[in-house]
Amino acid sequence: MENTIEKKKTGLENKSEHSKNGAEEKKTDGDKQKKASIKTINPATNEVVKSFKEMTEQEIESAISRAEKGYQDWKKTSYDQRADLLHKVASLMRKEKDTLAKLITLEMGKLLKESEGEIDLSANIIDYYADNGAKFLADQTLKTEFGEAIVRHSPIGVLLGVQPWNFPFYQVVRFAAPNVMIGNVVLVKHASNVPQCGIAVEQLFKQAGAPEGVYTNLLIPGSKVATLLADKRIKGASLTGSETAGASLAEAAGKNLKKSVLELGGNDAFIVLEDADMDKTVEWAVVGRMNNTGQCCVASKRFIVVEAVADEFLKKFKEKLSALKIGDPMEKDTQLGPLSSEEAAVHLEDQVKRSVAAGAKILLGGKRIDRKGAYMEATILTDIKQDVPAYYEELFGPVASFYRVKDEAAAIELANDSPFGLGGSVFTNDIERGKKVADQIDTGMVFINHPTWTKEDLPFGGTKGSGYGRELSELGIQEFVNKKLIRVSGLSDPF
Ligand code: NAP
Repeated sequence: MENTIEKKKTGLENKSEHSKNGAEEKKTDGDKQKKASIKTINPATNEVVKSFKEMTEQEIESAISRAEKGYQDWKKTSYDQRADLLHKVASLMRKEKDTLAKLITLEMGKLLKESEGEIDLSANIIDYYADNGAKFLADQTLKTEFGEAIVRHSPIGVLLGVQPWNFPFYQVVRFAAPNVMIGNVVLVKHASNVPQCGIAVEQLFKQAGAPEGVYTNLLIPGSKVATLLADKRIKGASLTGSETAGASLAEAAGKNLKKSVLELGGNDAFIVLEDADMDKTVEWAVVGRMNNTGQCCVASKRFIVVEAVADEFLKKFKEKLSALKIGDPMEKDTQLGPLSSEEAAVHLEDQVKRSVAAGAKILLGGKRIDRKGAYMEATILTDIKQDVPAYYEELFGPVASFYRVKDEAAAIELANDSPFGLGGSVFTNDIERGKKVADQIDTGMVFINHPTWTKEDLPFGGTKGSGYGRELSELGIQEFVNKKLIRVSGLSDPF
């Protein structure tokens, strides 16, 4: 698929207006074109590193056909054989950690140490499903009046996984590892700005000895996804990404009567109560907002602080955010790198500008950083009323929205006033109080005294506009299985 290696600026290629950041300033039809094309653009410089040709219709057809053929054999393999493959993939991933982590940072700008952490976490997820899959999928015996009844967990076939760029390995293995363990086979359409990460995962499976069709990377744009759902050989689909993409996939899946799982955006609340340990809370607030340069679905995005401690929190939070060292994400001491793309930075700055025009105030930052690349200042917005765009929109980057509220009840009410329902956190020294608050928050995950958490054995997913279904843990392996009832009874006379 690989095409030529280009070394030119994105903007020059599109012959449109350029910003000082090295790419075009306005959202134009050219932007849509850019989004649709598959290439590595280093967001730290906005230089095109490598371009890839989209798969042709024939190539897509033969990929699906190989996957379907592969499934017919893979579904007959034992759990031990599948676990063996997954362990090999995890081990290769750890061996190649340095190279793979650099690839993540090159393609989407994550700080190198965070990329290394992502590779470790991804390998752990793969091992986890290899170690526990057979137990999770074991037959369940049901108590019946007479005879025997069991629920057997059978694979369902070829699945499509549509993946986002923000965690190019972790997101993919959350989908692929449990499904390969079940006996399903996967077609993975990765985000168009991380093609080399997508290819690298496929290569790991190949090197580990995966039979043809078990894991296939599709180099196609998002616009091709809906039509794939009409293909009879594809039995289900999972998407992690924006609501627009999720709605489009869910519509196509529904039309074709196929199961889907959606992990979409979030606007998570970080609630600070008056009895919280303020210094530690502020440190976690920085991590919660700035990890992955603020581009996590479960990042803390709305900081909701009760009046009694609001000034103290805000002062300390601002001090910490102002002190972050901006730089090249490949450098070990950098604390604030670029966003994933010029397009993402332009969009975020526009959200900040629109919010200010509607009445929000900027306490810190608010602008692009004056250097090459997709950089944006660490920013704090205050005075955000309901008609300010930042109130309901997800800000995917280093921009924190601050809210001062009267008390705990007001904090909960504000936290729940969101179209999203992914995560959220509560900081308090009283754990029982924290649990009571958590009970009243309308999201898929709530964390007490931690901004967010993900690990192989904890379920992950949301409610409301954040999607449906779960990934990770035992719950994540139950999404694309046929829970088949097998009923045995004595041969009695018909009624
Ligand atoms: P995006 O545009 O929705 O892209 C995500 C994936 O969907 C990409 O592979 C993209 O392909 C594909 N896609 C785009 N349009 C599509 C369509 N109409 N039909 C089918 N697939 C389509 O997402 P983004 O804005 O770049 O990523 C950030 C979003 O993902 C945020 O909202 C974030 O909160 C969310 N997210 C959620 C989770 C979670 O677990 N809940 C995790 C990570 C990210 P192309 O790249 O080819 O367009």
